[in-house]
Amino acid sequence: MRTDLADYHVHTSRCGHAEGTMEEYVEQALALGLAEIGFSDHLHLYWIPQEERDPGLAMAEEELPRYVESVLRLRERYPQIPIRLGLEADYIPGKEETLRRILTPYPWDYVYGSIHFIGEWGFDDPRYMERYNRWDVDELYRHYFGLVKDAAATGLFDIMGHLDVVKKFGHRPAGDATELYREVASALKAAGVAIEVSTAGLRKPVGEIYPAPALLAECARQGIPAGLGSDSHRPAEVGIHFDRALEALRAAGYRETVRFEARRRRPVPLPFL
Ligand code: ZN
Ligand code: FE
Ligand code: FE
Ligand code: ZN
Repeated sequence: MRTDLADYHVHTSRCGHAEGTMEEYVEQALALGLAEIGFSDHLHLYWIPQEERDPGLAMAEEELPRYVESVLRLRERYPQIPIRLGLEADYIPGKEETLRRILTPYPWDYVYGSIHFIGEWGFDDPRYMERYNRWDVDELYRHYFGLVKDAAATGLFDIMGHLDVVKKFGHRPAGDATELYREVASALKAAGVAIEVSTAGLRKPVGEIYPAPALLAECARQGIPAGLGSDSHRPAEVGIHFDRALEALRAAGYRETVRFEARRRRPVPLPFL
């Protein structure tokens, strides 16, 4: 199967909750005929004191230079496929300058901005699921997407990861989310960031691609570039369900997808499958 697509959301065992060697991820991309693969492992939890960081959530701080070197070395070993250097970084309000300093020394192709924390609550972590009960879901959505908009506006990120991950466990807004989605898309447009169409949601309780069809259609309408990611945490997940991601993109009105190199964007027409 040749898909002509790039998978930009791939983790490595450095993050403490993914498995397989980096070579195995690349081999899987080659076997699928992907056009590119990009690693985007979890940056260390830079806003938490080192001794209090959960080692099962992200790479250790001292691993960052080695992570970058590993990706660069893989490029030499596999010249037949572009291997992009990406990162998945958390957005934490007030910690923008810390993150900027961490990112500056490295030759990123792209940096994902992801929201996994509301305050200290790791809301996408099944261990802390009972905290959803404390929220009105519509209020939670407004709060979550407020963070997404703020993250985009920092200019620190190239692409927003799993755009509506707040739905991961099946929490859906009670009312019509059209206005909220319109505001989110306008903010992303103004910030000049791209979004990720992530197949990870298909493997979670919600059973739906991130973002939801209505949100993706609004992003398409406002001309926001979209990239593709599997959020692989094991080699077999590379490029998984990309046929469905393509369908979602087309249904939303997209004609192209976005590629990154050295933090510059390049549009690529969607392939016919
Ligand atoms: Zn992860
Ligand atoms: Fe994430
Ligand atoms: Fe991820
Ligand atoms: Zn992720």
